[in-house]
Amino acid sequence: MDTQKIETAITMLLEAVGEDPNREGLKDTPSRVARMYEELLGGMGHDATEHLSKVFSAPNSEMVVEKNIEFYSLCEHHMLPFFGNVHIAYIPNGKVVGLSKMGRLVEVYARRLQIQERMTDEIADELATALDAKGVLVVIEAEHLCMTMRGIKKRGAKTVSYASRGIFRDDSVKKQEALSLMGVI
Ligand code: ZN
Repeated sequence: MDTQKIETAITMLLEAVGEDPNREGLKDTPSRVARMYEELLGGMGHDATEHLSKVFSAPNSEMVVEKNIEFYSLCEHHMLPFFGNVHIAYIPNGKVVGLSKMGRLVEVYARRLQIQERMTDEIADELATALDAKGVLVVIEAEHLCMTMRGIKKRGAKTVSYASRGIFRDDSVKKQEALSLMGVI
């Protein structure tokens, strides 16, 4: 990431909105924002596969549900935060993954300019491939500041997206079961 370029851009942005980038409170803002973006967009160029490489054998395992994985991301249309929870259900095909790895997987896709629907799909595809799971269901509930801070201004309004792969696509009973374990319905 070119932090020098971010600093230049933020200085120009401050000037463009009529601010004085040299005044006390703003002096270090461009460099602070540059460091912040390094962190917030730190998932770019990272491969989630490495986090899922360590799998455990679980021959007879039934559905696994990991819910309320907190995340913060930035919408690519406004560069404003959207944040909330990811719920993941999968039906293993002999392989399960450690729970902390799920959090890492979510981080990789959240820490970049995103749209919620794509993030949902990316997490589902990554899990379906890495675990060769029989089924994967990913649900994301998120609040978008570009909707609640501006525009229609409905604080607390949530966008819910979901992506299903394998068994969850065809078996509505299993899907219902997963959604109820997630606490979504
Ligand atoms: Zn937006």
